[in-house]
Order: sequence, then structure tokens, then C-alpha cells
Amino acid sequence: MKIIIGYRMSGYDNNSYMTGSCDKLFPELKSVPKCDACGYRTDYRYTNKDFKLSRKTLDVSSTYDGVTIVSLKFKEFCIRYGYSNLEFIALPKSPDFFQFHINGNILPFAASTKEDLCKWCNQYESIVGPSMITDNIKEPLPDGFYQSDLWFASRNEKSPVMVISPVTKDRMTREGFKNMCLNKIEVEI
Ligand SMILES: [Zn+2]
Repeated sequence: MKIIIGYRMSGYDNNSYMTGSCDKLFPELKSVPKCDACGYRTDYRYTNKDFKLSRKTLDVSSTYDGVTIVSLKFKEFCIRYGYSNLEFIALPKSPDFFQFHINGNILPFAASTKEDLCKWCNQYESIVGPSMITDNIKEPLPDGFYQSDLWFASRNEKSPVMVISPVTKDRMTREGFKNMCLNKIEVEI
């Protein structure tokens, strides 16, 4: 029998960039930590205080460079339910929206392809094709937000896969959040 143990959660593109494109960081952002050898970012949680969100109709969305942005409504929902491992970073030029991170709650993932390891920063240039390693999971994840141990995508765009429990997904649905990508994760028991 197959059961749903959780859902991969991601937001649609919000037509915005936090630090620049896949290949080239905004030249004015001189303080973004990056590797001296490969040149790609080493801090994928960097906050650009001048960030402006272009598409403001989504409660959960993603910049082209892989940063999750959430609405005030989403933040208030998380606080009301007491999800304590979440960070909401204020964006002065996009009031009522926040850069969103999950802390801890790490799940093991595999990648279908890893390419070009930089020996200097120990990051792959490209790491794609995420799949959750579910061998030891026999029941749905407890209520909450989780993230993959590997960070996926290429060059300057890497981010962890976000996963929510079925209970959390039901709460979000009742709250009326729309336009989120939720893909179920099933295991055979
Ligand atoms: Zn490097």
C-alpha cells in the first residue's frame, strides 16, 4: 500500500532576482560572498536589502535565483500555528513580503546528476534531479516544514527542496493559499 508522507513545496516564479542571474551577480552587490576560484555564490541565504518583488500576487514564490519569498499572510499563518523553525527576513523595499528560510528539519535527498565539483568551495556547479531518500520512512512526516540536505540547481541559483507534512498541507489548503506547487511524496509500506 502506498501512503503520502509529505509534499514538496515550491513557489512559482515571481519575475525577480535576489542577487543576479545564474551566471552573473548584480555588480552593485559587492558584499555577496562568493568563491575566489569558481566565482559562484557561497551564501545562498544572502539578503539583498534593495530587493524589489515584481509579482506580488503569490503567497509563496521563488526568485529566478532560487530564493523563496512569502507574503505577510503566509508569515502570520506560520506564527499562528507555532512553526518555530522558520525565518522571515524583512525586505525594506518590498513591505509585506519576506525572504523565507527553514532551519533544521533536514531530510536526506539524492541527486540524479552532480557536475563539476569546485575543490576550493566544495560545491558542485550543477546539482539537479532531486529525490527524497525514503527507505526509513514508514509514516507521514509530523506537522511542519522540512528541507533537503542537498541544495539543488546550478551556479548562483542553489536552494534546498522544501517539504511539508500532509497535516501542514491541509492547514494551508484550509487557509486558502493558492498558486503553490505541491507534489506528493509517496512510499510503499
Ligand atoms: Zn568554488
